[in-house]
Amino acid sequence: MTAYDPCAHCEEMMQPYMDRVLTDAERAEAETHLDECTYCRKRYRFEERLRQFVHQAVQEPMPVELKAKLASLRTPLQ
Ligand SMILES: [Zn+2]
Repeated sequence: MTAYDPCAHCEEMMQPYMDRVLTDAERAEAETHLDECTYCRKRYRFEERLRQFVHQAVQEPMPVELKAKLASLRTPLQ
């Protein structure tokens, strides 16, 4: 029987944790581990940043200046 590896278990729970689909007990278990394990904490932070970055890239509205520039390009010359 292989030894229980809390980090492997933690990794399994990472995606559901980020998706907030864990039960309260599972989330508490993951958070307890993150409190005491620097390795997993770093991994979670990295994943979180990655998600935020992807989210931002998709959601970020077009900068006002760019919008104005595009609008001026569309304006027919007179
Ligand atoms: Zn760990």
